[in-house]
Amino acid sequence: MNAEAPGPRRDPSCLFCKIVAGEIPSTKVAEDDIVLAIRDIAPRSPTHVLVMPRDHIASAADLTDADAPVVGRIFATAAAIAREEGIAEGGYRIVTNVGAWGGQTVDHLHFHVMGGRPFTWPPG
Ligand code: AMP
Ligand code: ZN
Repeated sequence: MNAEAPGPRRDPSCLFCKIVAGEIPSTKVAEDDIVLAIRDIAPRSPTHVLVMPRDHIASAADLTDADAPVVGRIFATAAAIAREEGIAEGGYRIVTNVGAWGGQTVDHLHFHVMGGRPFTWPPG
């Protein structure tokens, strides 16, 4: 993707681009001009929210310095959601999977915000 291309970046075959566009339903948790946060359709913890940019960025491997405002907004949104969900005090996990070995199944950058139970380290 060309980060300098004008207008919103969208991949017509991307599931999360379709969710961002409202073409596929989702349970929204938060949204603004830069990011969208939705509940994961198959939650692996009591709180399991996905925070993603509205623009199509395939994964964290594609981020550049120009995306710093996007990444900042993603983490600020994740922290706000954690407070609202009541998981901030106990602790939680923010994860982004990259590529096949990283466990990425949807190629649109997203951060899992997971909490409500303890997690082990390292992940499997
Ligand atoms: P990853 O495997 O890290 O790429 O994460 C993709 C996540 O998207 C998984 O946790 C899926 O359960 C979730 N997911 C897939 N389809 C949907 C959908 N339509 N709405 C919400 N979450 C979804
Ligand atoms: Zn996309």
